[in-house]
Amino acid sequence: MHPRSTIVQQPTPLEHAGRLSDHLGIELWIKRDDLAGPCFGGNKARQLEYYFGAAVSAGADTVLITGAVQSNFVRLTAAVAAALGMQAIVQLEDRVPGKPEAYRTAGNVLLCEMLGAEIMTFPEGEDEEGADAALHERAKVLRSEGRTPYIIHLSEGHPPLGALGYVDCAREILDQDDGFDVFVVASGSGSTHSGLLAGLRGNGSKARVIGSCVRRPARDQTSRIRRIVARLADLWDGASGIVPDDIVLWDGALAPGYGQVGKPTADAMLLAAHYSGLILDPVYTAKSFAAVSALAATGDIRKGARVCYIHTGGLGAIGAYSDTIREALSHS
Ligand SMILES: *Cc1c(COP(=O)(O)O)cnc(C)c1O
Repeated sequence: MHPRSTIVQQPTPLEHAGRLSDHLGIELWIKRDDLAGPCFGGNKARQLEYYFGAAVSAGADTVLITGAVQSNFVRLTAAVAAALGMQAIVQLEDRVPGKPEAYRTAGNVLLCEMLGAEIMTFPEGEDEEGADAALHERAKVLRSEGRTPYIIHLSEGHPPLGALGYVDCAREILDQDDGFDVFVVASGSGSTHSGLLAGLRGNGSKARVIGSCVRRPARDQTSRIRRIVARLADLWDGASGIVPDDIVLWDGALAPGYGQVGKPTADAMLLAAHYSGLILDPVYTAKSFAAVSALAATGDIRKGARVCYIHTGGLGAIGAYSDTIREALSHS
């Protein structure tokens, strides 16, 4: 068993989206993981149950993590650390070019400051190994000062503890409703996608799981998910039955790149708002929801299919994207 801290009040709601279902010609349900955990919630709350479980077992007093400037993972880490009486040290990476001032000061950055996190910066957004190495340097200094740091790694090659949180979520959904044909989820670092897929297959569900690429193209993401699933099988046996055909990625809303919004993403964001009162963020959930509307339109998700869309959160960042969102509104 892997040590786990309780962070998410489970189960999160599973809601039928009636008007969106009628509009898209499918039976759409929303798994409200935007309501998981503290401080504007999100999928990282489930992942953190296992990272903080490990940190607490190791007697850590400080938790270090790296992410994009508007990272939700970093913000939730700062919130959970505050609740547990630990210091959070968060490193923000410059990944997205050409963003306005609010990107650096509002949304999740503001929340991290309010939560009392110590903020470090890192110049290179595509260097996962380098970003983690900078955390190790900082941890070395902390150790020399008598502190006990715990690092939540971004790069591959570490046990994917976070994915275990989505193995739990898969079980939770099957308990709520075991009749879904299709699941749609954002695929970024890949922990959520891998854990959900493993949790479904490991508990007997044959439903299709479609990962919507938010970070890198489908080909690269497919091999990344394959590697994470293999590592997850070392933590949880249920992941060992996954076959290559189970790993399905769609990247039709990825362009023009991570954290940047194309038309399918802008349209999906406003569709969800106008037809269900559901707020999606432009970086992750509007991109993942674009897969639902696009694939329902092409028939890749067949008419009448029972679809579970995982709302992974991202709402703490909304205020930092007011320019992007206004731009989408102006074209609608
Ligand atoms: C991080 C994040 C994702 C992607 O999850 P991964 O486990 O990294 O693939 C999706 N949605 C939101 C809101 C996120 O913050």
